[in-house]
Formats: sequence, C-alpha cells, structure tokens
Amino acid sequence: MSEDSPGLQTRCGYVALVGRPNVGKSTLLNHLLGMKLSITSRKPQTTRRNLLGVDTRGEVQAIYVDTPGIHRAGSRQLNRLMVKHATSILTDVDLVLVLLEHHRLTDEDEIVLEHVAQAGVPALAILNKVDLLSDKSRLLPAMQRLGERKLFAEIIPLSALQKDGVDLLRERVAHYLPKQSHQFPDDQVTDASERYLVSEIIREKLMRRLGDELPHRVAVVVEAFQAEPHLVTIRAEIFVEKDGQKSIVIGEKGHMLKSIGQDARMDIEALLNAKVMLHLWVKVRQGWTNDNRLLRRFGMDDTGPDRS
Ligand code: GDP
Ligand code: MG
Repeated sequence: MSEDSPGLQTRCGYVALVGRPNVGKSTLLNHLLGMKLSITSRKPQTTRRNLLGVDTRGEVQAIYVDTPGIHRAGSRQLNRLMVKHATSILTDVDLVLVLLEHHRLTDEDEIVLEHVAQAGVPALAILNKVDLLSDKSRLLPAMQRLGERKLFAEIIPLSALQKDGVDLLRERVAHYLPKQSHQFPDDQVTDASERYLVSEIIREKLMRRLGDELPHRVAVVVEAFQAEPHLVTIRAEIFVEKDGQKSIVIGEKGHMLKSIGQDARMDIEALLNAKVMLHLWVKVRQGWTNDNRLLRRFGMDDTGPDRS
C-alpha cells in the first residue's frame, strides 16, 4: 500500500485481521493491544475502515483493522455489505493476518483464503487456539499442508486466549510495515467513538447469547450518552426484525435482556472507567436488513460503521 521512505527509522502500516466468525480475531486484537482498547482521544475521526486498534511500541506503529468476518455472500443486503467491507479492506492494507483454527480448515475458511488470494497482499496464517489441541504433533503436518498452497509468507501457531505466541507475532508483523512516520499519536489506541464501542459491546453480548437465534438480524443504536463525573447514563435501542425475535431478546420475565445488560454494563464500565447506568430497549423494524435507509442509520451502509 505505501512506499518505504529511506532513512526513516519509524515503521507504520495497516494490518487486517480476517477469519470466519469465532476464530478469535477480537481476542487476538485485544491481546495485541494489551487489553487497552479504551479511548484516549474523544474526537472521532471519519474513516471508512472497520474498528481500528493502534499498537505503538517504540519505533513501530501497527494499525489493526478488525473485520466483521468474510461471509459467503447471501441474498440479503446486509450480508452483501458485510462482504464488501471485509474484502475491500484486504486491498488497502500492508499485511493481512488470516486467523484459522489450529489444524482444521472449514468451508468458511476456504472462502476467506480465496479472498486473500485474490487481494494479493502479504499474508500470515495464524493457527489459533493451539491450546485446545491435545496432540501437538498434528500441528506440523497441518502447517506443511497450508504451506504448500504458497499463499502465506509465514505460518504462526498461537493461542490468543492464553497470550501464547502473541509477542512473537507482534515482532513478525513489524517486519512487514513500511518505513514511514506514525499516522496516529503514540498514545491513541482507537479511532472509534465511545458510542460506537458501546454499541459493539452490546451487540457482542447479544450475539454471544442469542447468535444462533438471531444471525446478524440485530442492530444496536446508542440513543443517549450522558457523562457526568462519576456516572455515565446510556440509553440504547436494540432493533430486531420480528415480534418473535423481540420476545427472544427480552426473554421470560425479561431475564435475557437483563443479563445481556449486566454483561454489557461490566464491559462498558471497564471501557469508560466509570460507573454506568445502562437502559436497553428492544424495537421491531420489519425488514431492516434489506432497507438501505435503516442500514445507514445503523452505520452499516457503504461508508462503514458510524463513528460520530
Ligand atoms: P471473533 O469472532 O473471530 O472475533 O472471535 P472472538 O475473539 O470473539 O473469540 C470467539 C471465542 O473463541 C471466544 O469464546 C474466545 O474466548 C475463544 N478464543 C479465542 N482465542 C482462543 C484461543 O486461543 N484458545 C481458546 N481455547 N479459545 C479462544
Ligand atoms: Mg470479533
């Protein structure tokens, strides 16, 4: 993407994290950033990229781009947009980290590999979750098979969860970043706004609990964000497509929504370093996954997530 500037000692570049859902992209990003994904700059920058995590260590600045995953293109508008976001990133970075799950490749992984091959960017294969592999001798033949595809500059096994191999990965990443000056101030960790991060935390909790029942059919919008010195009051709306989905999210006697709210609140408190009062509302908007106007409002149109 960018040319080396000779003479400069600093390195800086963009690194995309791709892989099918659940392979461990967000976990790896958090550990690469040292779990410090909090905001030092309150001023959001306009960008069409996905969530950025900036890791600056001395001379080296790696700007990580987490993606919502490359999915098989579906007929629905939302699916198409997700595919577009994830794949357009690949042609616009200096390095791609492709996350795979230790020795096993699924059909979804194969789709990811296809996209990476088409993009023609330097790519490292990350074989994640090796801690789950009781027989480590299965790793070597898997690495060999992957190597035969001639798609990856390096193949690195690691455990994002146990932080095993993460420092080594960071070192390897640095070699692929062009020599140029840093693009972000050294203490800035992300370009996303607090509102956006909060809505992503709530969406993550929803997906974690109800992902099987609500595949991608849910959007979260932070409607109000009121910060006082010791308390942040947040009101967020959860949009689903059908009455039935609304009942699922709310759960019997409201238990599901309550526990999603509690999980989300704890993460948000850690993020904002403040006590948080979180009010969640569930609303039905029929057909929002096919409605461009609503998608725009939910930050899922062609210009990427809304960071305002
Ligand atoms: P993403 O959808 O690719 O962003 O995946 P996440 O980072 O959200 O991780 C999905 C699940 O896999 C979570 O439950 C993680 O705790 C788990 N996970 C991620 N990395 C590892 C790992 O190295 N080992 C194990 N055992 N679990 C992991
Ligand atoms: Mg993720």
